[in-house]
Amino acid sequence: MKRREFVGGLAAAAGLTACTQESADCDGQPAAGGETFSWSCVTSWPPKFPGLGMAAENLAGRIGTASSGRLTTKVYGGGELVPPLEVFDAVSRGTVEMGHGAAYYHKGKVDAAQFFTAIPFGMTAAEMNGWLYYGGGLELWHELYEPFNLVPFPGGNTSVQMGGWFNKEINSIADLKGLKMRIPGLGGEVLRRAGGTPVMLPGSEIFTALQTGSIDATEWIGPYNDVSFGLHKAAKYYYYPGWQEPGPNLEVIIHRKAWDALPEDLKEIVRLACQAINLDAASDYAHGNAMSLAQLRENPDVEIRPFPDDVLSLLRTTSQEVVTELMASDPAAGKIGKAYFDYLEKAKDNSRISDQAYLARRDG
Ligand code: CA
Repeated sequence: MKRREFVGGLAAAAGLTACTQESADCDGQPAAGGETFSWSCVTSWPPKFPGLGMAAENLAGRIGTASSGRLTTKVYGGGELVPPLEVFDAVSRGTVEMGHGAAYYHKGKVDAAQFFTAIPFGMTAAEMNGWLYYGGGLELWHELYEPFNLVPFPGGNTSVQMGGWFNKEINSIADLKGLKMRIPGLGGEVLRRAGGTPVMLPGSEIFTALQTGSIDATEWIGPYNDVSFGLHKAAKYYYYPGWQEPGPNLEVIIHRKAWDALPEDLKEIVRLACQAINLDAASDYAHGNAMSLAQLRENPDVEIRPFPDDVLSLLRTTSQEVVTELMASDPAAGKIGKAYFDYLEKAKDNSRISDQAYLARRDG
């Protein structure tokens, strides 16, 4: 151990890059001191996209600054290095060290991951953070990703999304029949059972699909990002609320070997930067959504409408069926789902007498 410290110290004193991540792994334990690490981070988002893409850029920037350049990370937009929906595989294989995306994109590979993004009619952003950081959620998430060599962290939250953009009115349950809509995750399965056809597309392909009529509707995020994509130019009706994604949590995933190679102080810098980005992204969305909604209100070509009550009731009961089946289909989903809903029951009661009660009366 002494010898390693000595060698590390010499290299640092000489201003050398003491060892790469790979060479740090050679003796099973990273040397202390002057080693530097150079990571790549792939994302599911268009490069530098407001909110989502910038969360990854800001994360990389903060880790670099806070570590005085000992850990630098180059961020790639979706498709630049790997396709937007292959972030999980690329980081799991160790092709790159880090990824930024959303856990529900891994439906089919690791179904239980959906609990760590959003459950239809499930937790809000504040409730998710409570569960993940203090309620045992993060430990369950680490356990779930362990076999994939991934270390996950919360990496942003868009808060309650919008129901989406529609080129036909949704006045009743019957209007969902035959509706071809871009909607990922469990929300997509709910739509299918309600008579629609869910389509999965990465963000970058949504505008063209909607404009050319290859889909009738799309959900994406909320006013901030939807205006960035120009979705208001491709559809007239903007429905709320985003029942399908009430508080979607974004994820930072790190390859296990890259994580283990970091000394403790860099690990803590990464953890702290992920927490900072989680708050920063949520703040960016709170601000961006309010400003962009104000713009949309002024636009005579856009109608912002609530979903009818009977449509939301059907979607709620169908969501319960879909989630119950998910939990029965897979032991990990059963265990994580039970933890999620046990937590949600208590969190809901608190939200009911705080946020919900206050917001219902704020305007009189
Ligand atoms: Ca969405």
